Amino acid sequence: MTNGYFWNRISGRFIKMVPEKYLLGQYQVSPGHLTFINNVSSLDYDYFVPDNSNESRVIIPGLSVDKKFKYVRKILTDQLTENAVREISHTLYDLLAICWSDILEISPLVPKISERVNIQNFERIIESKLSHLLEVCHRPATLLSTEIQTVHVSTAIRIPKLATEYLLSHTEDWEKRTIHAIQPKKVLSELITDEYIIYENKVAVRLVDHLRSYLFKRILEVQKLYSMISETNYSLESHNWEKHAFRVYDLWGESLESGIEEKAKATLDKLKAMYYKLGGLMDSKLYKKVPMTANVEPSLLDTNILTNHQDYRQVSQLWREWYKINKIQRLTGKELYKEKQEAYKGFNHFCWILIVRALSQLELRPENVDIPIQKDIKLLGRRTDIRLCRLDDHTFEIHLTAHEKKIRFVSIFSNIINLTTNNDFDEYMRIFESDVEKAQCKTIILYPDQNIAGIDNNRLIRINSLFLRSEENNTSYGIIPVSPFSLFSVEKVGRSIRQFIDGILIESYPPAFDIDNSLISDMISDNSGWVISNRNNDGILITAPPQKDDIEQLRRHISSEIKKVKVMGKVFQYKVHVFNHFLGQIDTISQCYSEILTCPICHKQQPPESFTKRYMDNHTFTCRCTECNIEWGLNSCANCGDNFPFINLNTIFNHDQHEIGWVDKIFGLDLVASPCSSKGEKMHFRCTKCNYCSIHNSTRCLMKESWT
Ligand SMILES: [Zn+2]
Ligand SMILES: [Zn+2]
Ligand SMILES: [Zn+2]
Repeated sequence: MTNGYFWNRISGRFIKMVPEKYLLGQYQVSPGHLTFINNVSSLDYDYFVPDNSNESRVIIPGLSVDKKFKYVRKILTDQLTENAVREISHTLYDLLAICWSDILEISPLVPKISERVNIQNFERIIESKLSHLLEVCHRPATLLSTEIQTVHVSTAIRIPKLATEYLLSHTEDWEKRTIHAIQPKKVLSELITDEYIIYENKVAVRLVDHLRSYLFKRILEVQKLYSMISETNYSLESHNWEKHAFRVYDLWGESLESGIEEKAKATLDKLKAMYYKLGGLMDSKLYKKVPMTANVEPSLLDTNILTNHQDYRQVSQLWREWYKINKIQRLTGKELYKEKQEAYKGFNHFCWILIVRALSQLELRPENVDIPIQKDIKLLGRRTDIRLCRLDDHTFEIHLTAHEKKIRFVSIFSNIINLTTNNDFDEYMRIFESDVEKAQCKTIILYPDQNIAGIDNNRLIRINSLFLRSEENNTSYGIIPVSPFSLFSVEKVGRSIRQFIDGILIESYPPAFDIDNSLISDMISDNSGWVISNRNNDGILITAPPQKDDIEQLRRHISSEIKKVKVMGKVFQYKVHVFNHFLGQIDTISQCYSEILTCPICHKQQPPESFTKRYMDNHTFTCRCTECNIEWGLNSCANCGDNFPFINLNTIFNHDQHEIGWVDKIFGLDLVASPCSSKGEKMHFRCTKCNYCSIHNSTRCLMKESWT
């Protein structure tokens, strides 16, 4: 039994009430309560999912809970993304049952790209039969119908036989009567009309609609794939950092073949041409005559015209082909529930693939890559203990055990990029902020990226950054978009992991020891600069890598002190104990720079000479790897006064960068702090705490929106 009825994944807490506004994928069924969602008996940690009417009904019989939650339609994820993540996750039915090496085999890109960018069979059929549909719409068969009405005598064209008889019995229609005859005012007349609204024409017009909606979806899909395929051109042109380019091309090469860009473009052109032709038919006489409400059952009748007329016959065949691939599946409530759970979990599995890939790119892995990944595993590859954990609520954590720090990843299947009004957007951001503040560590929210054009840049920055701070408590968090339709998702996730691991290792400078500094006061006062007292004067800081001589000197000093106090007798026994404790720490002190001196890119430990102490007062440093020609270290921020870690790749910008998210497309997971520079300049770094850029003296440079 738990304290709440629902589980909030963002705050990582049980709650009793779900607020009015919340995100899809945020709430789950809490264990220990028999719960029904949309009348389906749910499992522990099942997601709240919408039913056909975009509502969730949650019933907990034992607690008399019966609530309906309505979803804001906008934040539902688009069908293409939903299908793609569901397809990817089908290969990953059970996360527990799959090992590290198998996960690395699964591409984080939408499956069957080459197949999808080709013209499909059905589209060839549309192409071949489109002219018949055009013909039908422009020259439809009609039914000639004759109607008899009383009309003014001047407009009567054909007078039927029964008109005389009718006129004799309707005196109100007489104009006047003469001796010989009746002069009529109104007479019966035959009206002949073309009847358009026949079954076969309804079929043609509705087929125009069906084909248009089919093509529209396909155009969106191919468009998405096309922009993904051409995404790499962007980094190829800039090519600032080879390692990044190689990684992206590796991924590209896994799923894509050469010439695919042209293929996608050709398909797109063809689909668009058909779509526009069909759009033109909406102005045809036939389309306008048949009302929107004239529906046709999907299984066609075999009428004479549909079977024998040369054009209608083709239209009917096209209809049947359409029906074959567009059979509307009516899902039961239970099936829909299952499908939605699968999609939400699918997105989560997708994020798991990204995390495992990213870790692997960062050269981290478990000891045995061929056994199922346990819920909590140790990762090898660094000089410090790193653990990866999967939690019951489908969130993931990475722990730096020795530093007592962790970071969590929460996947939220909400289309937050679609929140186009400021009010809506701000409201959802407040949800994020108030919930991440309750979490015990930095939270990274991963949400499905959907390339919606026209979103305001200010908003885009806030959902594309690793370095966000909540207004109230200044809690650090990040929100980043990932998608099976992007080549850079692994880079983004990798950078958030790099920022956590290497950020903390770099920030551990200077190493501190809880040792009574008065014991070595001589060494501290006449020191060569490698050991000092801490600010509170109750411990020591090692401000530079100790040389062999330094350590020997320290060891000698402590040993002689021990000898001195020993001769002083039993009263000073406790002092012997304190010195011995110090002596025991010397090995750790001599090793305390191994993490700081290790290159974050190639993981080779650098000699102490590559370390440079910078400004003593604020404890900053740089360290250089001669092999990779990169630098890392701590910078001091002129704005907030805090120190922040950076990795400097020592490259020059080939191009000005303006697009939000550009860092991931050029440097990706090799950076910690974000750079801000112009064409031809070296890298300058923004403070990861307050986003201050020293080059432009601003926390929001207008020229470059280079947050992320
Ligand atoms: Zn290196
Ligand atoms: Zn700052
Ligand atoms: Zn700047």
